[in-house]
Amino acid sequence: MPKTSETVLELDLNALEHNYHYLRSKLNEDTKFLAVVKAYAYGSDAVEIAQKLETLGIDYFAVAYVNEGVALRNAGIKTSILVLHPQPINFDALIRNSLEPSLYSPKILHEFLEALKRNNQKDYPVHIKFNTGLNRLGFWENDIDYIIKQLKGRDEINITSIFSHLAASEDFNEKPFTARQIESFMSIAKEMDANLGYQTQKHLLNTSGILNYPEAQLDMVRSGIGLYGFGNDMDIDPELKPVASLKTIISQIHKIEPHETVGYNRGFTSDGYRFTATLPLGHADGIGRQYGNGKAFVNVKGKMAPIIGNVCMDMIMIDVTGIDCKEGDEVVVFGNNPTAETFAANANTISYELITAISQRVKRLIKE
Ligand SMILES: *Cc1c(COP(=O)(O)O)cnc(C)c1O
Repeated sequence: MPKTSETVLELDLNALEHNYHYLRSKLNEDTKFLAVVKAYAYGSDAVEIAQKLETLGIDYFAVAYVNEGVALRNAGIKTSILVLHPQPINFDALIRNSLEPSLYSPKILHEFLEALKRNNQKDYPVHIKFNTGLNRLGFWENDIDYIIKQLKGRDEINITSIFSHLAASEDFNEKPFTARQIESFMSIAKEMDANLGYQTQKHLLNTSGILNYPEAQLDMVRSGIGLYGFGNDMDIDPELKPVASLKTIISQIHKIEPHETVGYNRGFTSDGYRFTATLPLGHADGIGRQYGNGKAFVNVKGKMAPIIGNVCMDMIMIDVTGIDCKEGDEVVVFGNNPTAETFAANANTISYELITAISQRVKRLIKE
């Protein structure tokens, strides 16, 4: 890759392929793989990522909202797409685009049945989401009777799958809780199948679930963060490759005198003679204010330079004292070093938040 000459988010599709194969290698041959591509494929580029994964033989996609699924369909994505959190106002668009809803409450089930009737649909594929302890979205086990009653004698719906979501699959201290979630899901799934009179697919695991509870892989797994290069585990991270690298350049270098201040509200006060560099990216690009004031570090010529003062909308300032650099030089905000995981951890947050926040203003560059 040539050195960058503006702020770009480089997307390494070979890294994506590597991560996909790594995660697949943890699974049985016939376990299906659903790639979670919500939120612009975790802040990268949903179409580019989905197209690449289709060539690798991905079984399913998931997005959060209907408009994300429509964008994939408009780009020619043909693979089945599960919509995790659809809103009734978008049900007609969902049906028009052959997207498959997660139905998670009595209200949503009822409203989707109405939408199917209105659109003259039969045997429409849906996914029933159960709550097993995350307490976010999902039917409760004692809703099963209601679900079965709603569906009796109706042919609009075909339940393709039954699923749930783990609350703490990356946390070894929560193993007993996760075991109870798995057990509870198994019992729900059995009861649903018995009442429906047909077999549905079952899925439960996210990325950390795949890595820590492969025995619960069932018919399919749902991975997001692992595909993008993070395993929520210091031992796993070296096995994965970050897909996205945020790179920028030095716009200007200043020599600062002792006691001078840098940035809005004079957030940084210099303790001596210092060199600062101003970079063309800020909180409007997704580098939030929590990364300022010495929390996060960027890579300048292989050396770590802290972000000093308050992050501005379109700029950040870094301390490059003692680093041999000049205006126009490349700066790696995150990528291989520091990783998004490390960059985020320095400001007490997680890779998920950092990478999904990179705004659409930042140009995406595909590297393959
Ligand atoms: C986002 C999401 C996932 C993906 O989780 P990762 O930790 O990124 O692998 C899986 N399932 C559901 C229901 C989700 O909302």
